[in-house]
Amino acid sequence: KSFTKEEIKQLVEDENVEFIRVTFTDVLGAIKNVEVPTSQLDKVLANDLMFDGSSIEGFVRINESDMYLYPDLSTFMIFPWATDSHGGKVARLVADIYTADREPFAGDPRHALREALASARKAGFTAFNVGTEPEFFLFKLDELGNPTTELNDQGGYFDLAPLDRGENVRREIVLTLEKMGFEIEAAHHEVAEGQHEVDFKYASALEAADNIQTFKLVVKTIARKNGYYATFMPKPVAGINGSGMHTNMSLFRDSENSFEDVSDEMGLSKTAYNFLGGLLAHATAITALANPTVNSYKRLTPGFEAPVYVAWSASNRSPMVRVPASRGKSTRLELRSVDPTANPYTTLAAILVAGLDGIKNELEPLASVDKNIYLMDETERVKAGITDLPDTLLAAVRELSADQTVISAIGTHIADKFIEAKKIEYTSYRQYVSEWETDAYFENY
Ligand code: ADP
Ligand code: MG
Ligand code: MG
Ligand code: MG
Ligand code: MG
Repeated sequence: KSFTKEEIKQLVEDENVEFIRVTFTDVLGAIKNVEVPTSQLDKVLANDLMFDGSSIEGFVRINESDMYLYPDLSTFMIFPWATDSHGGKVARLVADIYTADREPFAGDPRHALREALASARKAGFTAFNVGTEPEFFLFKLDELGNPTTELNDQGGYFDLAPLDRGENVRREIVLTLEKMGFEIEAAHHEVAEGQHEVDFKYASALEAADNIQTFKLVVKTIARKNGYYATFMPKPVAGINGSGMHTNMSLFRDSENSFEDVSDEMGLSKTAYNFLGGLLAHATAITALANPTVNSYKRLTPGFEAPVYVAWSASNRSPMVRVPASRGKSTRLELRSVDPTANPYTTLAAILVAGLDGIKNELEPLASVDKNIYLMDETERVKAGITDLPDTLLAAVRELSADQTVISAIGTHIADKFIEAKKIEYTSYRQYVSEWETDAYFENY
């Protein structure tokens, strides 16, 4: 859906919008915003809203800090909750970042995704469709409103209330998102206690990435209103399933899904196989972006439904890439390694460029793995050509540093800032001595 400036002004007036949140995402994936009263709307719509880029993670140095926010008019959405007693509302506009010289800013993750989509168009694809399945945990808040480590319920996969005490929160999240124009396909309790999933319909990658960022904001806001704290941390509790963000994808030519070919025994086109070949070839480097925190690697361990190996399957849910059974318009690949701490813009840019590389170079995927990889021993895995996903943030960052295709997808500005920040993060983690270590070593040595 697209809006003209006039339509936006009319909606702001009709809906009693008092503030406009102009949002963008930093290199590390955090959503940021400059909030202005609606008296400044004309300035925002004229691309004249400025901010200081030097204080944003991974952007620029002090001497080149003035940046402009160019709102993407198609992203206008109103948050349905009132912000004050007379019912004033807040609207969102997602912006692209421009430099003081009014050039697209190389450090803007949204720009990186736009560039990747331009490459897809050059290759003849009109859309890269993406549907994600973000999972999150609900924890209780204490009397002061601070998050505790107490989960909100003991429910399990697809449970109903009273085991599932998150039901009312989840419903409110769904209704809120629907009012904002999201098409919610499903919402359910996940496998772990206190864990939930809300699925919304796929959209073209740029819109999908914007939606993920807004989704997280809505989930956190509604959870808090109900006395809970929502976290998208990949592994908040040891010993139970972590939270992933399975990423479903397909390339379209106009209304035709380029991943489908009814004459193939699996119903997949050569385009789909080659995209998959590219995805597998660049998987270890993509991991740094798809799983960008120290904690991400605590989810990517055997035994908790998260992938650990670079492999794919049509019939088995354990590998990194699954080909879901649906065909026709829903023919798609599902990348199951991604977690919700991923910056959706850079991650989708990397995935797309990897897939396009596979198409261009006609990369064939390895044979599909149709048994449970976790029951195979190492010799069997080696024989099948199955490699390991990186097992730490540092290992993943090293893979990224060595993959020029994936670096080109996000651009050297973002890659340099990202790699530098992640090395610092890993070093800080490595210097910390955990309770696990004192338990294991203190008395034994
Ligand atoms: P799962 O079976 O893995 O739990 P879900 O039903 O929870 O899958 O989510 C499937 C996601 O895939 C949804 O977001 C859906 O909109 C999306 N999807 C469906 N068709 C396509 C497609 N052609 N391209 C990309 N995503 C798609
Ligand atoms: Mg799902
Ligand atoms: Mg499902
Ligand atoms: Mg799930
Ligand atoms: Mg899934």
